[in-house]
Amino acid sequence: GNAVRLQAIKDVEAYVPPAVSYTDDEAPGDVFGENVFNKVVMQKRLPKSVYKSVIATIEHGKKLDPMVADAVASAMKDWALAKGATHYAHVFYPLTGLTAEKHDSFLEPVADGSTLAEFAGKTLIQGEPDASSFPNGGLRNTFEARGYTGWDVTSPAYVLENPNGNTLCIPTVFVSMTGEALDHKTPLLRSQQAMGEHAERILKLFGHESPEHVVSFCGPEQEYFLVDRHFFLARPDLLNSGRTLFGAKPPKGQEFDDHYFGAIPERVLGFMMDTERELFKLGIPAKTRHNEVAPGQFEIAPMFERGNIAADHQQLLMTTFKTIAKKHGMACLFHEKPFDGVNGSGKHVNFSLGNSELGSLLVPGDNPHDNAQFLVFCAAVIRAVHKYAGLLRVSVASATNDHRLGANEAPPAIISIFLGDQLADVFDQIAKGAATSSKDKGTMMIGVDTLPILPTDPGDRNRTSPFAFTGNRFEFRAPGSMQTVNEPIVTINTIMAEALDHIATQLETAVEAGEDFDTAVQNLLTEIITDHGAVVFNGDGYSDNWQIEAESRGLPNLRTTLDALPELITDESMELFERYKVFNHREMHSRYEIGLEQYALTIGVEARLTLEIGSTQVLPAAVRHQTEVATNIGALKAVGVEADTAPLDEVSAPIAALRAALATLKAALADHAGDSALAEATHAGTVLLPAMADVRTAADALESIVADDLWPLPTYQEMLFIL
Ligand code: ADP
Ligand code: MG
Repeated sequence: GNAVRLQAIKDVEAYVPPAVSYTDDEAPGDVFGENVFNKVVMQKRLPKSVYKSVIATIEHGKKLDPMVADAVASAMKDWALAKGATHYAHVFYPLTGLTAEKHDSFLEPVADGSTLAEFAGKTLIQGEPDASSFPNGGLRNTFEARGYTGWDVTSPAYVLENPNGNTLCIPTVFVSMTGEALDHKTPLLRSQQAMGEHAERILKLFGHESPEHVVSFCGPEQEYFLVDRHFFLARPDLLNSGRTLFGAKPPKGQEFDDHYFGAIPERVLGFMMDTERELFKLGIPAKTRHNEVAPGQFEIAPMFERGNIAADHQQLLMTTFKTIAKKHGMACLFHEKPFDGVNGSGKHVNFSLGNSELGSLLVPGDNPHDNAQFLVFCAAVIRAVHKYAGLLRVSVASATNDHRLGANEAPPAIISIFLGDQLADVFDQIAKGAATSSKDKGTMMIGVDTLPILPTDPGDRNRTSPFAFTGNRFEFRAPGSMQTVNEPIVTINTIMAEALDHIATQLETAVEAGEDFDTAVQNLLTEIITDHGAVVFNGDGYSDNWQIEAESRGLPNLRTTLDALPELITDESMELFERYKVFNHREMHSRYEIGLEQYALTIGVEARLTLEIGSTQVLPAAVRHQTEVATNIGALKAVGVEADTAPLDEVSAPIAALRAALATLKAALADHAGDSALAEATHAGTVLLPAMADVRTAADALESIVADDLWPLPTYQEMLFIL
């Protein structure tokens, strides 16, 4: 019999979830920010002058004055010790996409044999973890294995609770000895600065004399699956690769649509309440929750925050979810496609730019002047997305996201913009000369005033578009659920910096030449929509026609990661990132190499798992079944009953297919693909993936033939519908 799977089902039935940690007299918001060294805490604990200096860094992008570091470190240490912290950690974001931490004790031995809690300013602002175990794409030789971490003052420190002792966590950048980025945070901060600078030039032209620092805002919507931990542990593929490499479609799928916005199972609700409370403590503004399209799939969308903080919080959110899910006897799956044939998971990146004074610059105003400004920022997005569609595509490229993009559940690999009927109509009119009316309002104004009044909520939605205007922001829907939001934000910031720079220069030049500003704006908008309007598409992104039409419009269609990665090292891309000081050429090459390495590694692990599970679990179960059938036929014949041999043929054919496919996969794995990262990635994508698919086809066919009590792996039915 098959102990593992059947035992898992029994264990699931017997499982009693833990009580949630809310107490009756606690409102959910009571704990908000409790474990964060935020402005309120700083104001209380720091000398006034020090506080002011830190705030200048946080809000106006000034460099942190090293003179104040000791004072901040000392206050932070006292606060953290009072919160039960015994250690501090520089938290950084290496290119594996995971979060890394280097822990050190606060306690240092002193001469009399006792210990003293020490935490100096220089330890706060800089650390030196050994960098040799993190991917660097050739940026670093092993003899200079050191990396440096440096505090991102704009992202607050926090205390992470753990039964074994709490830790003060300090979000940091991670760079090589020569200052090159080894992480995801460094380029984000650099790109934010570049975009802000050029956005401010445009605000000045629109009469804001000394605008507040402009930053990017990001609100990430995170989709995920929950499965019972007993099933998770009985599936080596889920455990080790994050997705099921085997599994026939369940008789009942998602076609009933009964899960979407349906009632949340009680156990999941307990998990959500607990995660929410933990996130609140860490100052993460978790907001909405509901079921997603697929069974067992859910979503969380924290309120938007400044790009770099949203990115740090997003990483922390994923870690928190995994920990709390375990506590509730479940596993949280962030993989983009844990189950074949069932909807995958994305991480929509809602993006806008703005500042505390003006809010989002992508909100239409109430008057023509503000609307002109709004349209200029929209035009910047249109230009940026059209010119650098390939870079946006590569910012979401991974072996795992390849299973989801373009699969009629997520946007296609073609990057286009959805503006909504109304805004599209305005730009149409601008392209033809001047916009004199907006579709619904029909108001005609004079001067700048030739630009229409726009209603604040254009309202309509298009779920098939990768980059959609949604009233006060653009929503980038291609990012995968497992990836960091840093890469998309870095790319959007940088391509926006280029577009805003272009626009600012053109308008400044016109104004200096004595041209009328309104006319200059009008001309600029017309030029941009004429040159870049091809990227605007309001139709159905899932349709086959769009593939054809996009091609005739000259839009790139980079279907897979292998197709997309070379975008990183085109002359145009390298020149762009270098110009805005986000990446130099070496850094770009390193990201390209790491992209290939990660792709090959991911598929390599999956291929080895497929071989192992196929050979040691699926094939033996099938052979046992085959033996039973054969024995049965033999027994029937022995007593003179005429036996039908068809059932034996039915199981023998897929067994033969499975054996052959396993042999091919084994040979493919043994094949030396070549010495370059490109050769290995190409081998993984073009040889290993198809070989794995053949193994799966045979194994999935056997799943519906082999006796249930022999089948080793928890089925889709079990994993998706038992919670
Ligand atoms: P949807 O309609 O797409 O389900 P939600 O309300 O669930 O929208 O989530 C939208 C996300 O967009 C939230 O994280 C929200 O904070 C974020 N968001 C809202 N306004 C902005 C903005 N101006 N800039 C960036 N993100 C924003
Ligand atoms: Mg959304």
